[in-house]
Amino acid sequence: MSPQNDVPVAPRRAAKHRSGRRSTGRRTQLIGITAALAAAAGTTAVGLSSSATGSSTASPGLSPSQADALTAARVERRDLASRDAGRIDLSLEATRKAQAEKAAQARAARLAANATLTQRRALALAAAKAAAAKKAAAQARALAAAKAAAIAKAKAAAVAEAEERARAPKVVLPTTGYRLTAHFGEGGSRWARNHTGLDFAAPLGTSIRSVLAGEVIQASYAGAYGRQVKVRHADGTVTSYSHMSEFAVSVGDTVAAGDKVGAIGVTGNTTGPHLHFEVLLGGDNQVNPEPWLRDRGVNP
Ligand SMILES: [Zn+2]
Repeated sequence: MSPQNDVPVAPRRAAKHRSGRRSTGRRTQLIGITAALAAAAGTTAVGLSSSATGSSTASPGLSPSQADALTAARVERRDLASRDAGRIDLSLEATRKAQAEKAAQARAARLAANATLTQRRALALAAAKAAAAKKAAAQARALAAAKAAAIAKAKAAAVAEAEERARAPKVVLPTTGYRLTAHFGEGGSRWARNHTGLDFAAPLGTSIRSVLAGEVIQASYAGAYGRQVKVRHADGTVTSYSHMSEFAVSVGDTVAAGDKVGAIGVTGNTTGPHLHFEVLLGGDNQVNPEPWLRDRGVNP
């Protein structure tokens, strides 16, 4: 719209306002008169009221053509205003829509970002959990392996010990309640040569036992040795028991360590009741019985 066209609009608008106010004042006046007439004449106000309404549409003091022009101008202004308002509304609505869309997009982006973050956190958490579980499993496996190894080692040690015990000959002392009266290798007037055994002095009749398992290879009187028993053991070593008062075994008997072979006596060349005990490696090599016994776990 050009400025030239704008100029006449203002007076017309002012005229409308003036005529509007005048019309309203006149209408009030008419209604007042109508009410008075109605009260005086006792007629209804309906018909008069309609005449008052009719007169309000036409502006007073204007020719019909002027009134028509004014009405047309009013209609045009109303349409223009309505169209402008519509345009403003449309524009506002578009802006609101755009803003809403933007906000929605921003919300969606935030949600997506949050979701991604949440997902990343969840993944990281899951990865950490998996790593921890893997580590725990590895530790458990290592522990189990160590335990199994320890158990296997203990078992192997126990087996080895049992085998060692089984291999080791069971040795016992040849008698009880004794005191040693002569040791291996001692010289003196009592023997033709140095002493060939170990003497256990004990009361007459005290049991004499085989120190190791073996086979009885002699049970007879043997000169200066008196009553003598000889037992041959698994490795060929022979132990002999002399000066005994009696025999408890016969040649060919199998004895266990600790089995009675006879009793303390005074037979043969002896000055008192005692056991003359000898160890003969290979059956004829006399060795000191004390370290031999000690090496096998007993201390005479
Ligand atoms: Zn002796």
